[in-house]
Amino acid sequence: MIVGIDLGTTNSLVAVWRDDSPQLVPNALGSLITPSVVGLDDQGQVLVGQAARERLQTHPQLTAALFKRHMGSAQEISLGARRFRPEELSALVLRSLKEDVERAFGEAVTEAVISVPAYFSDAQRKATRIAGELAGLKVEKLVNEPTAAALAYGVHQKDRETSFLVFDLGGGTFDVSILELFEGVMEVRASAGDNFLGGEDFDAALVQHFLSSQRQDKAFPDVDSPGLRNRLRREAERVRQALGQEATATFSLAHGGQQWEQVISQDELQKICAPLLERLRGPIERALRDARIRVADLDEILLVGGTTRMPLIRKLAAGLFGRFPAMQINPDEVVALGAAVQAALKQRAAALEEVVLTDVCPYSLGIETTAQFGRMYEAGHYLPIIERNCVVPISRVKTIQTLHDNQTQVLLKIFQGESRMVKDNIALGELSIPVPPRPAGEVELDVRFTYDNNGILEAEVKIPATDEVHSLVIEKSPGVLSPEEVRRRLAELAQLKVHPREQLVNTVLLARLERLYQEHLGEVREMLAQMAGSFQQVLGTQDTGRIADLRAAIEQRLEELERSPWQ
Ligand code: AMP
Repeated sequence: MIVGIDLGTTNSLVAVWRDDSPQLVPNALGSLITPSVVGLDDQGQVLVGQAARERLQTHPQLTAALFKRHMGSAQEISLGARRFRPEELSALVLRSLKEDVERAFGEAVTEAVISVPAYFSDAQRKATRIAGELAGLKVEKLVNEPTAAALAYGVHQKDRETSFLVFDLGGGTFDVSILELFEGVMEVRASAGDNFLGGEDFDAALVQHFLSSQRQDKAFPDVDSPGLRNRLRREAERVRQALGQEATATFSLAHGGQQWEQVISQDELQKICAPLLERLRGPIERALRDARIRVADLDEILLVGGTTRMPLIRKLAAGLFGRFPAMQINPDEVVALGAAVQAALKQRAAALEEVVLTDVCPYSLGIETTAQFGRMYEAGHYLPIIERNCVVPISRVKTIQTLHDNQTQVLLKIFQGESRMVKDNIALGELSIPVPPRPAGEVELDVRFTYDNNGILEAEVKIPATDEVHSLVIEKSPGVLSPEEVRRRLAELAQLKVHPREQLVNTVLLARLERLYQEHLGEVREMLAQMAGSFQQVLGTQDTGRIADLRAAIEQRLEELERSPWQ
């Protein structure tokens, strides 16, 4: 069985193809959404998902989130005494999703289609494949997230040429992609985005608004404590989500026996978020320009990402594009469902027509050159060979010449990025090519870059003067683990003990009680301590019935606490 996985920055989901349709698979807690958070518990056992997320605040040294942002880099993240690569943490999330499917269907899962953002670079894609490998999954294909969304909407089944835009606003990122379906071939024509714009920024704006309205009140507590800041952020998220159904919602904070409230209307939310809404325009315009397409030529707009549930985002999209976007499928589930469609295509399930997917190279790829200004030479310039947003697979050649008399070697430095000078771009690797000693400029080198469907870049250099071809693999790609490193880390991950699955529900509850304890003071705190104490006592009895009853009662009380403040 090939599973489809949406490995997200904040949340991950897994889906399988069953009964001619994609279906999401719940995790050990019965939820379809697993937070992309990994931690170690007090015994050093691995916790993945909600339990780890609850401990982010109470055990920051033992918990990691948002590691997708570091995929493809060599940055390591510490959990206690151990250091993890981002692909190892991703592997632990993938392993947990794999196990959820294995539990649900009693079948081994060894293959997966994993979605990645359309703009993911070569190193980021390689890191995602390695994460799969570290989780014991053969990655059949990496599918671009917007392509997956299109597959979930069945766009590939249309028999006429279709152009559409995927508007993906998640918790922390905004991505716009323009795709085209032509003669059964789906192409990502362009992608653009903002890596630091999402639902969390809307929450921060709402918190800021609430705080500024309370500024005059001398009794208002000091919000510099992490506990209080987290409560404000969560309250903002609750209010923002409530405004999806209600005309107004009340932002409230109870602290030290006092309560502060502010009623917020849809219109006010719109005003508070206006600067952020404005920032959504830039990437949309850039993507349209790069794809050389006009809004009027788009056949459909697809909404992806939890934040697109906000009515004001839908209204904005409808205004910008002059029509209502498609939103029949849950925007936070659509990518995982599409990944399962891609998995089914791989398995050639009869229910679907075969489709060839092609994608774009998200960044320009090029080499360092020396620019000549009259008699002056200046090193460090960038010569793009493959331009950003080219449809892949693609192969492009540029010819360069030697710079010095009797030069015996050319050092070719390969970069990715859009800046004029290489120092502002990302170094991917370098290769040294021997050349015959001749006067400057007499030896030519044809540099060919080939970028394939899986986002792998290969450089080949031909020297027509000698007919030599150097087919070269870029070895110094930063942040990509070597096969030996992968083997070593695989062995290390196998040693890690995982927190027992059956205990997860109870662990989540204890972690939540601990977090709330840290966030509150006074009587509420005492009550939380009592609840934690009695729950731990009942856990000691190992009486599953009593444990479940008390858990349900406490959960209900905590729901009330988190919905409307006590005191
Ligand atoms: P994602 O990254 O796609 O998982 O989206 C996560 C973001 O979606 C978070 O910022 C959530 O606050 C937001 N979100 C989820 N459900 C809703 C909703 N009903 N209304 C507004 N925002 C939501």
